[in-house]
Amino acid sequence: MTWKPDEIRRLFPAFVNGGAGVYLDNAATTQVPDCVLDAVGGFERGGRANIRRGLYPLSLQATEAFEEARAAVGRYLGAADPREIVFTSGATAAINLVAHAFGDTLGPGDEVAISEAEHHSNIVPWQMLRERRGVGLKILPVDARGRPDPDRLEAAITARCRLIAVTHCSNVTGAVTDVAPIAARARQVGALLLLDGAQMAAHGPLDAAALGADFYVISGHKMFGPTGVGALWAGRDILQRMPPFLGGGEMIRAVTFEHTDYAPPPQRFEAGTPPVAQAIGLGAAATWLMDQDWDAAGRHEARLTRGLLEGVRDLEDARVIGPLENENRIGVVSIAVDGVHSHDICHILGERGIAVRGGHHCAQPLMERLGLEATTRASLALYTTDSETAAFLDALGDAIRILR
Ligand code: PLP
Repeated sequence: MTWKPDEIRRLFPAFVNGGAGVYLDNAATTQVPDCVLDAVGGFERGGRANIRRGLYPLSLQATEAFEEARAAVGRYLGAADPREIVFTSGATAAINLVAHAFGDTLGPGDEVAISEAEHHSNIVPWQMLRERRGVGLKILPVDARGRPDPDRLEAAITARCRLIAVTHCSNVTGAVTDVAPIAARARQVGALLLLDGAQMAAHGPLDAAALGADFYVISGHKMFGPTGVGALWAGRDILQRMPPFLGGGEMIRAVTFEHTDYAPPPQRFEAGTPPVAQAIGLGAAATWLMDQDWDAAGRHEARLTRGLLEGVRDLEDARVIGPLENENRIGVVSIAVDGVHSHDICHILGERGIAVRGGHHCAQPLMERLGLEATTRASLALYTTDSETAAFLDALGDAIRILR
């Protein structure tokens, strides 16, 4: 089947109203379809209630909607049981949760390994763990195209390694990590594997366990859901072994001044009132995403990505940073222009109504490794059209001519 982005765009008020313009900053945040807005609005307008504690119908309905959303997110990530999903405020919060709940069981002599390709959200929590617990932090180098290098696993992931935390897909280069050898190395040394799926999750349903992951984190606002929500997937046995991170209401079974019995997971990790409306919206986004024809959407995105890769190659002084081939990548294309700062390019493009991102993309160590200060990044989604990528390439060419 041919993918028809124009039909998809009709489901997104931001495109129907024209407010989003040429929107190529989907790696930062995606737009929201009506079905997600309806789910959030339905909860808020229909009379909202806090979940779990109330015994009146509105509260029972809210609890049911929240748990249905958990189940939908679970289905999207291939969870065996909805209780494997913990709602958080985003991917950053999910990684911090693991860095505390799992990380605080580690100490001197233990190691955590991350890669050079990580977003700051998957670097800083582990540095903070190193400060707190004296845990060693090892870095898996990337290859010349910015992909975690499977040939250098042995030095970075030693017998002391307890957790490997790597991105499933880079927000700078669009490179999809070759997870299988990393998962195999994790099993070999007895380490757990966390995959940062913030970018990948907008590109179709997946099976986190089949990938070899023990933890998988996602971000609502990067997968057509609301801001302020995300999720952590982990197997029941792992969640059951982990102590809580945040303490408060809802994560307890019983509290006295002497002692607290914690609730079982996932509630153990959801202290306080969770982002109920946002979680319901994320559940609606996951359900909508599961209904899409991913073969057709994937072919569409790959075709547009190829057009971008070829278009940039034809521009003088511009080069693609990251994989040049159109395999094992998503439509996140970073571009460096010799002698021109990406912020100047983004500014000119912005004046033409084209939204792209410039800068270090919260991945300063990767930029340093690639010898760059900043790139201009165009990032696609299933609603991106040919005319958007064409407008981008045109404007980029003009911007380079103006700025050089
Ligand atoms: N990981 C990656 C690869 C990202 O691109 C981002 C956001 O840009 C994050 C983590 C952080 O996600 P969140 O905004 O949900 O905290």
